[in-house]
Amino acid sequence: MRMRYIIGNWKMNGLAADLEKIIQISKLSNRTLQPDLTVVVCPPATLLPGAGEIHDVSIGGQDCSPYEKGAYTGEISVSMLKELGVTYCIIGHSERRAAHGEKSSIVARKADVLISAGLFPIICVGEPAESRNRDDAIGFVTRMARESLPQSDGPFLLAYEPVWAIGSGRAASVGEISAMHDALRNLAGPQTPLLYGGSVKPENAGALAEIRNVDGFLVGGASLDPETFIKIAAQLNEAERNCERASV
Ligand code: PEP
Repeated sequence: MRMRYIIGNWKMNGLAADLEKIIQISKLSNRTLQPDLTVVVCPPATLLPGAGEIHDVSIGGQDCSPYEKGAYTGEISVSMLKELGVTYCIIGHSERRAAHGEKSSIVARKADVLISAGLFPIICVGEPAESRNRDDAIGFVTRMARESLPQSDGPFLLAYEPVWAIGSGRAASVGEISAMHDALRNLAGPQTPLLYGGSVKPENAGALAEIRNVDGFLVGGASLDPETFIKIAAQLNEAERNCERASV
């Protein structure tokens, strides 16, 4: 039995009333999911204080500072996240790489800072459409991943999120994800959970969850509706049961 992960990235969505949705996710997950699935919700920073008090669902940040404290206006340090009960943190999301010039070397530093505080980094990597069209996706992503990985030995999760698939309604194909995740498995080793993200929804989650080196999903838009999110999660459970049946 291997651990699988479903991680919801709410991005800049959600006001205080939406904490109710995390409570709903926690109840639905308790009622319907197997315990070998870790459920993580990453709400905006303003909701972390309330979210950290909700049981049975892990809470993640959407970014953190590579520095511990000081003159970094607007930044949030890892200790600040930790104090709120946060245990995971997305870093290197393509929206931050594009809009905030976040380089892989900074992502690697953030990963090290998170690991040294005992939090799990969720390191995002993915190619733009031009690189996919040039047939250079695997080279591009493995390079980005190599430069974004922590120096320290601690555990992290690696999420493959093709930029062209995020929010577009068009997920990468089973073949594209298989080839990429096999390459990332070689790079990151057998213990690193590998997630796929980019237009995952209940309609495609079953097929994507069956891919050999897919250990879970990072879900954006579809994570904002608790029932939809849990429907996706249930398919990861189902894929794991199929995997166990096949190995007997
Ligand atoms: C994301 O932004 O991490 C993401 C996967 O978004 P979506 O599921 O909406 O494509």
